[in-house]
Amino acid sequence: MPAATVVAPLPPALTAAVKRHWGFTALRPLQEHAIRAALAGRDSLVVMPTGGGKSLCYQAPAVVRGGLTVVVSPLIALMKDQVDGLTRIGVSAARLDSTLSSDEWAVTADAIRRGETRLVFTSPERLINTGTFRLLRDAGAHTIAVDEAHCVSHWGHDFRPEYRQLARLREFFPKAAVHAYTATATDRVRRDISEQLGLRAPEVLIGNFDRPNLIFRVLPRLNLVDQVREVIDRHRGAAGIVYCLRRKDVDEMTAALRKARYRAVPYHAGMSADDRRATQEAFAAEEADIVVATVAFGMGIDRSNVRFVVHAAMPKTIEHYQQETGRAGRDGLESECVLLYSGSDFIALKAIIEKSSEEANAGPEYTAASIKHLDEMARYCRGAVCRHKALVSYFGQEYGSPNCGACDLCLGDTQEVPDAQKVAQKILSCVARVKESFGIAHVIEVLRGADTAAVRARGHHQLSTYGLLKDVPKPDLRDWIYQLIGQGVLVQTGDEYPLLKLNPASWDVMAERQSVRLIRLARREKRGRTEGAAASPGELPAGADAELFEALRQLRRQEAARAKVQPYQVFTDAVLAEFARGRPTTEAAMGRVSGVGEFRLRAYGKAFLNAILTHCRQKGLPTDVPLPKLAALPQAPPPAPPKASSKKELAFKLFRGGASVEAVAAKTELTPATVAEHLADFVRAEKPESIFAWVPEDVCERVAAAAEIHGTQRLKPVFLELNEEVSYDHIRIVFACLESRG
Ligand code: ADP
Ligand code: ZN
Repeated sequence: MPAATVVAPLPPALTAAVKRHWGFTALRPLQEHAIRAALAGRDSLVVMPTGGGKSLCYQAPAVVRGGLTVVVSPLIALMKDQVDGLTRIGVSAARLDSTLSSDEWAVTADAIRRGETRLVFTSPERLINTGTFRLLRDAGAHTIAVDEAHCVSHWGHDFRPEYRQLARLREFFPKAAVHAYTATATDRVRRDISEQLGLRAPEVLIGNFDRPNLIFRVLPRLNLVDQVREVIDRHRGAAGIVYCLRRKDVDEMTAALRKARYRAVPYHAGMSADDRRATQEAFAAEEADIVVATVAFGMGIDRSNVRFVVHAAMPKTIEHYQQETGRAGRDGLESECVLLYSGSDFIALKAIIEKSSEEANAGPEYTAASIKHLDEMARYCRGAVCRHKALVSYFGQEYGSPNCGACDLCLGDTQEVPDAQKVAQKILSCVARVKESFGIAHVIEVLRGADTAAVRARGHHQLSTYGLLKDVPKPDLRDWIYQLIGQGVLVQTGDEYPLLKLNPASWDVMAERQSVRLIRLARREKRGRTEGAAASPGELPAGADAELFEALRQLRRQEAARAKVQPYQVFTDAVLAEFARGRPTTEAAMGRVSGVGEFRLRAYGKAFLNAILTHCRQKGLPTDVPLPKLAALPQAPPPAPPKASSKKELAFKLFRGGASVEAVAAKTELTPATVAEHLADFVRAEKPESIFAWVPEDVCERVAAAAEIHGTQRLKPVFLELNEEVSYDHIRIVFACLESRG
C-alpha cells in the first residue's frame, strides 16, 4: 500500500445516505477506507473483528453507486435478516436462495431486471448456478461482496466446501469488483482468500483487533454451574451465551440453569432444524436470555446486545475464541467474556481432535496443525500477560497500554498462591508415594486426608503425605494439579483411566532446581455477596438513568412484537442507552442520536418520546441533556436549557446545607439513586469545597487513586479495582468532583 496521501472527504451523497438510512453520524475509520475502495470499484480484502461493522462497507456503497451489488453469504438465516433489516430502513434488497417459491423467485427476478434492486444476497452454490448467474450478469452486477470469506480456506476454522466453488467467480464475472470480508486474520487464511477469489491487486485493510469494551477473564474452573451463575447474575436480565464443549454438557448446563429459573435455551448440532430455529428465534426476540450452545451457534446471530459470553471450557483455537467472544458487545457497550479453564481441557480436546481426524481420515499435517492451535489457546489461558494484549498480539498487532483495566490480570481477579513451591512439592511427593499408579481423584483424597475405604484399603492413610493439604478445598486442589500438568512438571497419561506420573521436571521442582507458580481466584467470597444488583448500572454511560433504560427496553420489546421484527431492529441497546442519558424530547433531538435514522424515527420515534417524557416527569429528571463533548462542536445545535425541575432545585438547595442523600431522598420523594445523580450534577455545577459530607474521606482517596489508573470514563473498572467495596453512587460523586477540578 502506498503511504497515506491527503485523503479527500467522502462524497456527500454517501455520508447523507448513511445518515438517512442507518442513522450513523460517523463512519468508523476502517469502514471509511473500505467504502472508498468499494466506491472506486477496486477489489478489496477487509479484515475486521466481529462487530467491527463489515456489512455497512458493502451496503452503503451499493446504495450510493446504484446498479446491482451481489452479496455472497453462507447462511440463509443471515441473508434473511439482512434483507429484512435493509428493507425496513428503505434500502431495496432481495435474496435468491433455495427457500424461495417459484412465484417469489419470479417477482424477485423481475425487480432485479428492472434495476430496482440494489443488493442481492445469495449463497455460493446459487451464484454459480447458471440461471442465477445469467440473471445477475444480465442485470449488470458490478460488485460482488463475499461475506465470511474465510469459509473459502482450508486453513480457516470454518471451512465450507461450497465456498470452494467461488474459485470460478472470476470466470463468471470478469469485470466486477470483488470484495472479501472476514474476521479471521491469520496470514495464511488471508493469502488463501485472495488466491481462491482471484482478487486483483486488492486493497488490503486490516482492522484493529482489540475490543476495548470487552472485559476478558480466564478463571480456573472450580464449580462450573456456580461460576456460570455468578456471571449471569452480574448481568441480570441481559442476554448472554454459554459455550460448552459437547452436546451432553449443553443439555446438562441448560437443565441446571432452568432449574435455577433462568431463561436458558439449548443449541447444538444434534437438535432438529426446527428446534434450533426455535432457539434462535426465542433469543432474537428476547424471550430467552441465555443460549447454552456448542460452537455450532453464533454465525446467524445478530443480537447486538449480548452482554456476556461464558466459555465453560477452552475453545479449540484462538480464532474460535475471538469470534465467539466477538458476539458480545457488538453495540459497543461494556460486556464480559469469561473463560472457565481447566488443564483437563487440553487433554479432552486433544482426544476429540485425534478421534475426529482419524474418522475424517485427515492427514497427519492437519492433525498437527490443529494441535498446535490448541496449544496456542492453552498458552493463552495459562498466560500471565494482559488478555487484551495477548489477543491482539496473536493477530499480529501491538497493544499500547500497560494496564487495560478490562481483564482478569489487570483487574487483579487472580492472585499467586503463597508458597506455591511448597504446595507443588507436597502434591508431587504424594504422586511419588502412591507409586505413580493413581489418578487425580485418589491423589486428592490422600492429600486432603479423606477417610475412605479406597484410601484405607491401600494403606494410603499411613503415608507421610496423607492429609498434608487438608485445608485446601477439593476444586482448588484439582485446579492446582492441572496447573502443574499445564506447566509440564507433572504428567497425566492419556489412557481411559488417566494416571498421574512424574517426569524429570517433577524431581527438579522437588529438589528446588525449578520453580513453579500457582494461581487462585482472589476475593471469591466477596464476589458472591456484592455482585449482581450493583453491577449493571456500570454498563450504562455516565449520566444514563437505569430505570429509564429498563423502561425503554420494555417498550422496545412491545414495539418489536407489534412490528413483527426483532428488538434490536427497533433500536440497539447503544441507542437506548443514549436515550436514557440524553433524554431527548423532540423528534429533532432524537434523530440526532447515532443509530436512529429517518426511517426508524418515523416508525418508532413517537412511542419512545412519550415514554421518555413520562418517565422524566415522574422522576423529575432533566431532559435534553447535551453530550459534554459534542456541545463544543460548532455544528452542534445550541444545547436546550435543562427544563426547570423543582425537585432538583430543592435537592441542590438541601445539598448546599450539607444534607445527606437519604435526607434529600426523603424530602424530595426521589429514589436515592436519582438523588445521587443529582448530587453528582450538583458537585459538577457548584464545585463545593469538600464532598466529605457525602463520601468519607478515605473512600474519596481510594476512588481518586483508582481513577488515576482507569480514568473517569467508566464506573465499572474503578468499582472492580476497589474490590467492589465502594458503591457506584459514591464513585459517581467522586468522579464528578475530580472532573470539576479538571
Ligand atoms: P460485523 O458484520 O463486522 O460483525 P456489523 O456489520 O453487524 O458487524 O455491525 C456491528 C454493529 O455495529 C451493528 O450493531 C451496527 O449497527 C453497528 N455499526 C456499524 N457501523 C456503525 C457506525 N459507523 N456507527 C455506529 N454503529 C455502527
Ligand atoms: Zn489487561
